[in-house]
Amino acid sequence: MTNKMLKFVSLSQRQPEKRSAKIRRADFDEIYKKFTSDRAVEQASRCSQCGVPFCSVYCPLGNNIPDWLMLTAQGRIEEAYRLSSATNTFPDICGRVCPQDRLCEGHCVVESSFQSVTIGAIERYITDTAFERGWVKPIAPVSERDHSIGIIGAGPAGLAAASRLRAKGFQVHIYDRYDRVGGLLVYGIPSFKLEKHNITRWHTWLEESGVVFHLGRGIGSREGELSFEEVRFRHNAILIATGVYKPRELYIPGNYLSGVEHALAYLIASNKRTFGEHLSSHASRLDAKGKSVVVLGGGDTAMDCVRTAIRQGAASVKCLYRRDRDNMPGSRREVQNAEEEGAIFEWFIAPEAFLGQDHVKDVRVLRMMPGLPDASGRQSVEPIDGSSFTIKADLVIKALGFDPEPLPQLWQQPELAVTDRGTLYVDNFSMTSLPGVFAAGDIVRGASLVVWAIRDGQEVALNIQQWIETNTVSSITAERE
Ligand code: FAD
Ligand code: SF4
Ligand code: SF4
Repeated sequence: MTNKMLKFVSLSQRQPEKRSAKIRRADFDEIYKKFTSDRAVEQASRCSQCGVPFCSVYCPLGNNIPDWLMLTAQGRIEEAYRLSSATNTFPDICGRVCPQDRLCEGHCVVESSFQSVTIGAIERYITDTAFERGWVKPIAPVSERDHSIGIIGAGPAGLAAASRLRAKGFQVHIYDRYDRVGGLLVYGIPSFKLEKHNITRWHTWLEESGVVFHLGRGIGSREGELSFEEVRFRHNAILIATGVYKPRELYIPGNYLSGVEHALAYLIASNKRTFGEHLSSHASRLDAKGKSVVVLGGGDTAMDCVRTAIRQGAASVKCLYRRDRDNMPGSRREVQNAEEEGAIFEWFIAPEAFLGQDHVKDVRVLRMMPGLPDASGRQSVEPIDGSSFTIKADLVIKALGFDPEPLPQLWQQPELAVTDRGTLYVDNFSMTSLPGVFAAGDIVRGASLVVWAIRDGQEVALNIQQWIETNTVSSITAERE
């Protein structure tokens, strides 16, 4: 059957068709179309079936990529789905949002001479097809267990853990402060990268599998919230998967002028607007229509803000980054998409001050130049004396990264240990300093990627299972003794 493979010499790489920039600027729909069956089969057949598949090595989930590519090339899509979903709880989501150019596809061996196999698009095709054909069935555990697990946070880490724990028969309850399931998949990542029905179908699947959701239930000590102690009392083990939401600040003059906003607040307002949800009066002003927008930052969040502002009808959108294109953390593919849609990138530029009376009118910036590599090997930058100038801006969006909220204080749990970065400390088995309380995803790793959150969620489920089994056995032994 391998004669269906190794076609990378005769067949060129074809990514899924992209809607034209002019059309996609006008809506929030996904920009890539789905592969047709013929195209998926054809593109999967380009894989050279490496003995040591670097694509899998560089996939955080270690996905069995060559095997599901071969099954796809043979038209055995249901089997490809079974295999791909064995290692990845949400393959269609990763196929859409993973920065494949830095992960699996960036390390595909045919990349250097023939352009990589289109792994992400095929992974997405397989699971989209599985949903269309009804192959995605609710989880049916072989037997039920009495033990109940409380998960705080319905982002990818919490959901991946829930599915694995449910498959082992645990009673799983997920708490989230929002009314929608998905965490940053819903409220952070814009629909043009990930349409929200792709998350709703997994929510339905988990509910049909017996996972119980407590939505609109924040955990904390504010009015209407459930205390951490209460949740801990209700369950045999707890998983904290609350992500990181505290925006990094820029301490320069004018930082608190109106119109100088944080990226996530802007993106959450935009996503809520597309759902038709109620917005606070501040959030309802976070709209780029007709404005000169300046986005600060070079990561994927900055790209999402740039492209959202274009879709909202901004008069102009500029992205300022203090390094160059080669040294930015964001995905190259996303920069290209943003440029096609009309964004202007200004490299080697850093903000110096926001100018205006009450509302921002301009950003004063400095030109930078490359310096020596820093301790991490990354190129440093230095300001060029006397190079300052201003850029017009009615809306400035700061996309400078996120840090964890101080959970020990917010939850009145001084024993909950944190690292020097403020992330939750966990041992080798994903357990925090509180017995039976585990943590996974961005709250442990710091701001990261969906695929790592899924991996952490899958892993922590195993650790919770082992901890419950070990503790049950030891308590039975203690009773006997
Ligand atoms: P989250 O997704 O943040 O979920 C945490 C959940 O916990 C949320 O639902 C939150 O409401 C809930 N919660 C928090 N505190 C409480 C509380 N006290 N009580 C109850 N519930 C609580 N990654 C990619 O791989 N590709 C991308 O293209 C990409 N784009 C991104 C774009 C943006 C704008 C941002 C901000 C991030 C992006 N990421 C991307 C990163 C990715 O979204 C995160 O790494 C991932 O979602 C982390 O998953 P998580 O489950 O740890 O946390
Ligand atoms: Fe690539 Fe992400 Fe899929 Fe892994 S999960 S194969 S990195 S797209
Ligand atoms: Fe196929 Fe590329 Fe993976 Fe090799 S590295 S197995 S060619 S997808």
